[in-house]
Amino acid sequence: MTTARRHYHITTFGCQMNKADSERMAGVLEDMGFEWSEDPNDADIILYNTCTIRDNAEQKVYSYLGRQAKRKHEKPDLTLIVAGCVAQQEGEALLRRVPELDLVMGPQHANRLKDLLQQVFDGNQVVATEPIHIMEDITKPRRDATVTAWVNVIYGCNERCTYCVVPNVRGVEQSRTPEAIRAEMEELGRQGYKEVTLLGQNIDAYGRDLPGVTPEGRHKHTFTDLLYYVHDVPGIERLRFATSHPRYFTERLIRACAELPKVCEHFHIPFQSGDNEVLKRMARGYTHEKYRRIIDTIREYMPDAAISADAIVGFPTETEAQFENTLKLVEDIGFDQLNTAAYSPRPGTPAALWDEQISEEVKSDRLQRLNHLVAIKAAERSQRYLGRIEEVLVEDQNPKDTTQVMGRTRTNRLTFFTGRINDLKGKLVKVKVTEVRAFSLTGEPLETRAAMAV
Ligand code: SAM
Ligand code: SF4
Repeated sequence: MTTARRHYHITTFGCQMNKADSERMAGVLEDMGFEWSEDPNDADIILYNTCTIRDNAEQKVYSYLGRQAKRKHEKPDLTLIVAGCVAQQEGEALLRRVPELDLVMGPQHANRLKDLLQQVFDGNQVVATEPIHIMEDITKPRRDATVTAWVNVIYGCNERCTYCVVPNVRGVEQSRTPEAIRAEMEELGRQGYKEVTLLGQNIDAYGRDLPGVTPEGRHKHTFTDLLYYVHDVPGIERLRFATSHPRYFTERLIRACAELPKVCEHFHIPFQSGDNEVLKRMARGYTHEKYRRIIDTIREYMPDAAISADAIVGFPTETEAQFENTLKLVEDIGFDQLNTAAYSPRPGTPAALWDEQISEEVKSDRLQRLNHLVAIKAAERSQRYLGRIEEVLVEDQNPKDTTQVMGRTRTNRLTFFTGRINDLKGKLVKVKVTEVRAFSLTGEPLETRAAMAV
């Protein structure tokens, strides 16, 4: 007897962590015999892996969900799942809002998808949002890319930034063991992956929840130690990491990055605001002077390093003068890239309850002014590449021009050049940069370093 194959579709909102969780959940579904469907309307399981960092991300989920809830009336065997941060934040309330839902599961439960689905197939409506110890998942993720991969090193966050919902929805810090991380990377190396980005909401916190202290009284496991430990994984040619927190960023880490040849010269260190009073109200635990010192030290060790960050405008109480301090920081540092956002009040966070909220008009005006400056500074930073020879790891074809391939420099600048993807995918190519734009480059290939094609 043959039965029709059953299909799944996952839509992912939000950050790299969510994308990594989705790859893991896709791996579980494939392990259970489901096949990927590009079109959600052909799928028997629909999973929304959601984000609640800003209100617009959350509202998008409800509109997608509404459409599939309607479809379930025509196809009662459709399984509807909401995973991720909205699921954690709303819990049972989501079932009241969308009774057609079968499963609501917080991010800590991503590795339990198989068990939870079994409960659904047994006829239950399931909510899994209680805090748990995250177990190692032995299922292989279904990764979207074949050259670069994400590897989680620490889940959760113990900070209490007054605007941020992450600690409420992702729980307390839980570091994976160095051995589990290395084993995952070794497998990636064997599969032909060339670049790994190590992920954590606050990656500098890695290891502080693991047991052990050194004779000098340090935590036995720190993120810097982890970099040394995984650096020689065979096949992996490049290492990146995100996100760094200025409160915990150390000179020891900077020295390690300068010393370890596979660690790329790109640092993502959100500053959020350039004003000390605002930083204090955000409970960030550093001043703009400290942030500047970190960047100066990075540039002392690695003069060409690229710096990117996140910033929020219109945080409650932010005055025009305080916002101008953010502009000044951006002007002075010269970021290669900056993710900017207008402050969005989030449920269960202290700043959402403060009286002194900034109007939408002012927020949007500040956001526009900041973005304008960011583009100017990024274009200035790009100029330094003109005429230079850069090493590019080829990831894919240029979707807008199929005669070209695209990849990234060590400093994370997207770079295009003429070539055939079948010959070049996964290779490190020396490229002479002939054209620069604010956030990307074009060049001519010179030579290809023998890195195994994928
Ligand atoms: N853990 C990282 C850190 O400490 O910078 C970032 C985590 S968060 C997923 C990514 C970015 O979202 C933050 O850096 C911040 O700029 C932005 N963000 C967080 N909460 C926000 C809010 N309520 N409104 C606007 N942007 C927000
Ligand atoms: Fe949110 Fe702050 Fe934790 Fe980053 S460090 S995830 S901004 S609470």
